[in-house]
Amino acid sequence: MNSHGAPHDPYLVGLDLRGRRVVVVGAGTVAQRRLPVLLAAGADVHVVAPEATPAVEATPGIVWHRRAYASGDLLGAWYVLAATNDPAVNAAVVAEAEAARTFCVRADLAREGTAVTPATVATDGLQVGVLASGDHRRSAAVRDAIRAVLTGDEAARPTRKPEGVALVGGGPGDPDLITVRGRALLGLADVVVADRLAPPRLLAELAPHVEVIDAAKVPYGRAMAQQAINQVLIDRAREGKFVVRLKGGDPYVFGRGFEELEALAAEGIPVTVVPGITSSIAAPAAAGIPVTHRGVTHEFVVVSGHVAPGHPDSLVDWDALGRLRGTIVVLMAVERLAVIAEALIAGGRPAQTPAAIVENATTGGQRTVRGTLASIAADAVAANVVPPAVLVVGPTAGFLAAQGS
Ligand code: SAH
Repeated sequence: MNSHGAPHDPYLVGLDLRGRRVVVVGAGTVAQRRLPVLLAAGADVHVVAPEATPAVEATPGIVWHRRAYASGDLLGAWYVLAATNDPAVNAAVVAEAEAARTFCVRADLAREGTAVTPATVATDGLQVGVLASGDHRRSAAVRDAIRAVLTGDEAARPTRKPEGVALVGGGPGDPDLITVRGRALLGLADVVVADRLAPPRLLAELAPHVEVIDAAKVPYGRAMAQQAINQVLIDRAREGKFVVRLKGGDPYVFGRGFEELEALAAEGIPVTVVPGITSSIAAPAAAGIPVTHRGVTHEFVVVSGHVAPGHPDSLVDWDALGRLRGTIVVLMAVERLAVIAEALIAGGRPAQTPAAIVENATTGGQRTVRGTLASIAADAVAANVVPPAVLVVGPTAGFLAAQGS
């Protein structure tokens, strides 16, 4: 309880944070979960922390002050989050905010702050926030029930808590593009092990008691990163926790899902696989590009571009792909667009074939760059395209829907 004593209920309010400075002190998993929501509200987000999780570091649109918190950092802030793992620092942040009469959430000891974060659900232009006198499990459970009513997916909610590990496809980025089953399982998780491309707003909805592990940050010493991730899944499941391994897109499309399934199966741990909407189809679709079209393409091929054509590790027959007439979707290709386009042209694909790149599909930052197979690498450089993005090659990449993007 803060200095104001009696346990009054807090006053629920919606803040207009557009263009307003919000200071987040700390850049761990708690901050990681709040940032997408603050950014979605249009806030001018400043993060103060000497170190950040890879997911925070990769969050576009934040200003990261890479140093320890110092008194004065809250100057000009309208709203503050104290989210470090050091209680003394959090207390100092709350004290500075209090002196400046700025509302401040304290992540480790909610009652010591002057504001609390409700469990929220946002769907279809509606926002619902739930507070339950600090009982986070209750607020999350009520929020989940409200979401089930709003989205009509009550029938899909499992009644018993599942066991083991669920490998869940999180979809391409928009939090509404996870499956109903995936979302229900996420709502039951004790532990979530998330990839960088897992939709961040899904993590923001998790109750505070849920342990969120950033897969990119699992320490792996001499073991391979993938082995270390497998081990975390095994260890938490053995502790009796229900673990959701949340991936971007579909777990089996360049997601290493089957490696994790094998590792878990070898330990006798039950695994549920929940397919997801893959970016290889959804990213083109989000840009108005159908991967097939009757009378135009009778095939689409999804290729990984993470190894350059001609590289000894490459398993792709680029000459064969160059002979295709349908749609080619290349993932993980941003850094190798020029060599990939050259390989397809060398294999026989006409240089004037339409090509498009869709960046950050289905998120607020979605962009499409269009050109031809001959021009697309230079077009991407000119537009400063960065991952995640997909390359689409074929006649449908040139389609322009009447109201498309
Ligand atoms: N399992 C994922 C793919 C993992 S590989 C899936 O099924 O979608 C990672 C690649 O996916 C990225 O390099 C990019 O090519 C693509 N990707 C993932 N999310 C994307 C998005 N929102 N927009 C565009 N491309 C995306």
